[in-house]
Amino acid sequence: MATGGASDDKSLDSSFVVGWIRELADQIRGQRDYLTQLDAAIGDADHGINMDRGMTMAVARLGEMTEARPGAILVSIGDSLVLGVGGAAGPLYGTGLRSLGKALGDEDCFGLEDLLAGLRSSLQAIQSLGAASVGDKTIVDAFAPAVSAFERALRAGGDVVSAATRAREAAEEGARSTIPLQARKGRASYLGPRSVGHQDPGATSTALVFTALERAAAARPGVVETQ
Ligand code: ADP
Ligand code: MG
Repeated sequence: MATGGASDDKSLDSSFVVGWIRELADQIRGQRDYLTQLDAAIGDADHGINMDRGMTMAVARLGEMTEARPGAILVSIGDSLVLGVGGAAGPLYGTGLRSLGKALGDEDCFGLEDLLAGLRSSLQAIQSLGAASVGDKTIVDAFAPAVSAFERALRAGGDVVSAATRAREAAEEGARSTIPLQARKGRASYLGPRSVGHQDPGATSTALVFTALERAAAARPGVVETQ
């Protein structure tokens, strides 16, 4: 739980969550072809298309939720990804977002410790649905180090921007770390040793989740860009 200092400040709200989702939709749109190319190498060439479709649906749903609380927004968007996006990644990301939303509960505002707890519960939900561990060449290879880096930054007294930056860096490094791995989960695992030498598409889109978090944090009113 919260241990004092800046991380107790419950300054994150619905507009932050909306900014994060919109930013993620932009990032995914911008990287759609790249994500699909990565999936062409070790999957079925639809990851960018799946994610873009899901995030387009998510943004449409945001328009219907202008009064909603942060937790409710994330649960609703999670539901739409689970139901509306084919492939492995839609249900995994959807479950993760739903779990984050549930962890944030009914409050109007939340703080960094709440966000950390929510990210942890997202990771757990993704792992209990997909049964992947670090090293299996999946979303988890980027998500797990990102959550750890977020926590380290908080414990070192970081604010939301610096914690999100550390998380984004760790997620990007985690995505790169999948290149030499042989996939043990998902469609890429059918390729066996032929999955080695390619970056995992899902770990790559997870890095975009944290890029979007960093950008949404930096865009909050009153934040001065320092890095
Ligand atoms: P599909 O593989 O069904 O076509 P996508 O192409 O949208 O679905 O997503 C593929 C990504 O899903 C993979 O790159 C991998 O990161 C992720 N993934 C697949 N299975 C799992 C799993 N069991 N746990 C976590 N992530 C997984
Ligand atoms: Mg695919």
